[in-house]
Amino acid sequence: MSDTTHKETRKFETEVTQLLDLMIHSLYSNKEIFLRELISNASDAADKLRFEATTDDALFEGDSDLHVYLEVNEEDRTVIIRDNGIGMNHDEVVANIGTIASSGTRQFFDKLTGDNKNDAHLIGQFGVGFYSSFLVADRVTLETRRAGLEVEHGVRWESAGDGNYTIETIERAARGTQITLHLREDAEEFLEGYRLRGIVNKYADHIPFPIRMTSSTPAETGEEGEEAATVETIETVNQASALWTRPKSELSDEDYINFYKHVAHDFEGPMEWIHQRLEGKFEYTLMLYLPKRAPFDLWQAESKHGVKLYVRRVFIMEATDDLLPKYLRFMRGVMDTNDLPLNVSREILQHSPAMEAMKKGATKRILAMFEELAKKEGDEYNEFWTQFGNCIKEGVIEDFSNKERIAGLLRFASAGGDAATDDQTVSLADYISRMPEGQDKVYYITAESLAAAKHSPHLEIFRKKGVEVLMLHDRIDEWLVSHLFEFDGKSLQSITKGELDLSNIGDKDEAEEAAHAEQDKAAEPVAQKLAAALESKVKQVRITHRLTESPACLISDDMDMSTNMERILKNAGQDTPDLKPVLEINPEHALVKRIAELDDDSAIATWAEILFDQAVLAEGALPKDPAGFVRRMNSLLAG
Ligand code: ADP
Ligand code: MG
Repeated sequence: MSDTTHKETRKFETEVTQLLDLMIHSLYSNKEIFLRELISNASDAADKLRFEATTDDALFEGDSDLHVYLEVNEEDRTVIIRDNGIGMNHDEVVANIGTIASSGTRQFFDKLTGDNKNDAHLIGQFGVGFYSSFLVADRVTLETRRAGLEVEHGVRWESAGDGNYTIETIERAARGTQITLHLREDAEEFLEGYRLRGIVNKYADHIPFPIRMTSSTPAETGEEGEEAATVETIETVNQASALWTRPKSELSDEDYINFYKHVAHDFEGPMEWIHQRLEGKFEYTLMLYLPKRAPFDLWQAESKHGVKLYVRRVFIMEATDDLLPKYLRFMRGVMDTNDLPLNVSREILQHSPAMEAMKKGATKRILAMFEELAKKEGDEYNEFWTQFGNCIKEGVIEDFSNKERIAGLLRFASAGGDAATDDQTVSLADYISRMPEGQDKVYYITAESLAAAKHSPHLEIFRKKGVEVLMLHDRIDEWLVSHLFEFDGKSLQSITKGELDLSNIGDKDEAEEAAHAEQDKAAEPVAQKLAAALESKVKQVRITHRLTESPACLISDDMDMSTNMERILKNAGQDTPDLKPVLEINPEHALVKRIAELDDDSAIATWAEILFDQAVLAEGALPKDPAGFVRRMNSLLAG
């Protein structure tokens, strides 16, 4: 154990030093947030103590009146923030506010925009809140003792934000943490009590612990000539009640928004929220928020924030899974129940019927909220989709019981029909409502990018016939369609798989059909030549009328993996089964006609290879032998 009584000087990691430098020199426009961050930490510390004390009452040391105390000392020019929460031991101080930069610190730097008002807002989100003390202080002293430790295990930490800090073991009678901010000259406004009260009201009204301050008022009586006496009273500055337990009718939008900013560590307000108390077999309260923007760590395995679980208003844990399905990990807020034990563990949680019911109920209400949002006028749903669409797609795969409902939330880009759009705004229901007489499938294409989808040869016939095709070009889309086979009774059909028959859609054109039959017959020999030349690469060579501009395309068998999926797996370094595609050729294309005229086997082989590799390229994949492709191509171009 590194428990030393002597005073040590230690160095911050480079990133922490940079961060402090930034706090001190650049982020000056929104200084007041230091108080929000320090109160938020004090409130977390009180939550932690209350939770640990549920199994070990002695941790309260006889004082369970958890609170935060703000003190101003004009003479020393200091502001003190004191809590009687869990406190920290020596190692915890080093780990939490000492040497090491959290992963959040690095990400914080990545997100900086240079606009210092905006950047100051990011502080809370990235777990670098404590360092915001240096927005207003040129020296910060932290004294703390962890609940349950002896008086002589107190710790003093001090730094002037210059790359070093000192740490020493001290005697400290009071449990919890006290932070003394030695104010910078340009931060003297924070010596004013009314200024501090104003900030508390703005950011911390809903903190469920009292925030106390001493206020001095002139005494009523006082002899003539005597110095004016003052009366000091301790007052509670905030509402100090758990917001979610209060009736909706008592709460304003502003209350909800401020609480959101606190629980979500967000500087913007939320897009939507739900506040509901549910009674039945299980009782619980939900106060859940949909953020406007995806959190920075949405796609990281371990994300820092999630929904907070309370049991009878005691904070238990914050988690991104367990409480809600994984695909809703961007939701924020609070779930509070009476039906779980206070000392609930992860294991109990995962098998608890009360938790199961709460998770299910919350999911249903969240999905209903999304559905409502989709019905609203305006751009909100599109914004929601841009931020969280890929999570919703996970939901189709993850949440079997709500699959159809979640599928209803999906939005795609679309080509071929009158409503073609590159924006992801077309729902499956929109698509189905526009299907013409004779069409019984929802057609889609998956591709590496929107551009690859749009320019795919497979779309040619759909454009010609005016049949709508949904364009799926996100990575997750292949997985999505491997779990979603139908919607509202209509099956989903990839246009790059299986034989295509659009003959039932639109008016019959007998002359065209006769012409096609003629072409099929004439092209039969060239199809056979190509099949022989490409025997090792394709299952079959077929004549198609789905192409209007391209000479050929590749089709996967209905039951096989699509070529796009194969490409994704290969890029991810995974083995793929060696599936041969079908090559479909356009009998009307000049290139195909040209091959039909050749009879030298080696020339046919060269052309066949080129035709095949071009079709591979059009799928957004690379030919197996790119150099060979170039060589063959050049020999023909030069020849
Ligand atoms: P965050 O609160 O997002 O974790 P901070 O920089 O605000 O990031 O705080 C870092 C860590 O320091 C906290 O997670 C906590 O472990 C510890 N800490 C800060 N303030 C206190 C406090 N008043 N009491 C106990 N621990 C604290
Ligand atoms: Mg914090």
